[in-house]
Amino acid sequence: VRNDRPLRMAVVGSGPAGFYTAYRVMSKIDKAKVDMYEALPVPFGLVRFGVAPDHPEVKNCQDKFEEVAASPDFTFVGNTSVGDLGTHFDGCTVPLASLMKHYDAVVFAYGAARDKKLGIPGESRLKGIYSAREFVGWYNGLPEFADLAPDLTRGDEAVIVGQGNVALDVARMLLENVDVLRKSDITETAIDTLLKSRIKRVHIVGRRGPMQAAFTIKEIRELMKLQHVGFHPVDMALMPPEISKLPRARRRLMEILVKGSTAKVDGAAKSWSLDFCQSPTEFVGDANGHLSRTVFEKTSLSDPFDAASKVSGTGEKTDMASAVAFRSIGYKSVALPGFAETGISFDDRTGVIRNDGLGRVFSNKAHPGETPAPLAGVYCAGWVKRGPTGVIASTMEDAFSTGDAIATDWTSNARFAGGGQSLGLDGVKGDIDTSRCNIISWNDWHKIDKAEKARGQAIGKEREKSSRARQTCWKLQP
Ligand code: FAD
Repeated sequence: VRNDRPLRMAVVGSGPAGFYTAYRVMSKIDKAKVDMYEALPVPFGLVRFGVAPDHPEVKNCQDKFEEVAASPDFTFVGNTSVGDLGTHFDGCTVPLASLMKHYDAVVFAYGAARDKKLGIPGESRLKGIYSAREFVGWYNGLPEFADLAPDLTRGDEAVIVGQGNVALDVARMLLENVDVLRKSDITETAIDTLLKSRIKRVHIVGRRGPMQAAFTIKEIRELMKLQHVGFHPVDMALMPPEISKLPRARRRLMEILVKGSTAKVDGAAKSWSLDFCQSPTEFVGDANGHLSRTVFEKTSLSDPFDAASKVSGTGEKTDMASAVAFRSIGYKSVALPGFAETGISFDDRTGVIRNDGLGRVFSNKAHPGETPAPLAGVYCAGWVKRGPTGVIASTMEDAFSTGDAIATDWTSNARFAGGGQSLGLDGVKGDIDTSRCNIISWNDWHKIDKAEKARGQAIGKEREKSSRARQTCWKLQP
């Protein structure tokens, strides 16, 4: 038997999925030892690099994660990617095979580090088109996008393609009073850029209607409440006739849109609109290769009042002046280098690791028609398990179910077959050239945290993040 000694578990990724899985396993399996590998020098994934700076309360989950990390059975292995992430990354790299060799259980919780593309002309060629992932990462200090330098000075009109909460975050950053934002942990670079911004009119455009939209009440209400910012009325033909009979959440959402549509836009310094039933077909540039307008095709809904309504193009084209455009149509996970060889089944179409719903990862060895078997000791959690949707609370639920599966398997001794000494990080270090690595420990993170807070305090904000483009710049003084 293997479980006559403590479980050794590796977690790949330090976002909510990684931390909540670690927490669950450590509270269910006595003396379980967890090593958490994180490609970035700093922890917390999208809680630090996604969640909007003016939503500090959402980041309170970090207190829980700090508690988990305080355990002597927990080790943070920062600035260390699992699988070679390519030339843009110059932290340490641990081959997947090494991880599989030295742990009883490996949990993939590495989120979604790519974004979906529209696939329309002009998208890759023209300047002035950004993905929400780039823009959000940039204003939140993600090293990868430190040099993005989005140009917000070329005109008044911004177009955001997509109507989820991330699109609304982007709109709020463009419309909010910079003096409100500057107290948050948004980077100073972003503050400087937003101060120079000429954007006055933001279009948040979606293919479907208000009854199908993905945004939620809190985020819409926040936009409606912005000072000196007007809202252009929604197309009432798309609103259901009997709003009072809708299920509660949808009813409240429709009520906010109707009420917001009665307010006056005239005289507002800035304004925004929800432009429904428009699908982008082309980005058009000026002579300098800079975006100047976006072409849309009007869509029609099979039943505008049905949340599951089908959408189709009408052929009718419209044009929108666009000094800048943001694509906010979703994040995407990709397979880690080494998955195929290790027998891990990844669905490239949906961008998730194939699993049994409880996080047990399927083998890629199944023949067509056969039910795939779970791989012993391999698990997944969070966005890479169920796709890039859902808030921190749903990610926690999902991570708990993975933690429970690990505890069940370990306790029943059912799924940790095979020998191996499970040396954990010591074993891994024997496989890599550590002299070329600068692993960031939890102690190191605390030093970074302290330095960031001190820098922030000096300029009247909560923290000023270090967002150097190169991870190796994070070398710490002893
Ligand atoms: P992530 O948080 O992305 O964590 C994955 C981690 O894995 C990252 O730290 C990454 O660097 C690391 N990693 C990636 N590849 C490797 C590798 N090869 N080796 C080692 N480490 C690796 N939810 C809310 O509840 N409220 C909000 O206000 C909110 N706002 C959001 C705003 C935006 C813009 C976005 C994108 C999401 C927001 N969410 C919000 C959703 C929330 O962030 C997610 O539900 C949650 O972060 C998903 O957790 P995860 O652990 O699966 O992924």
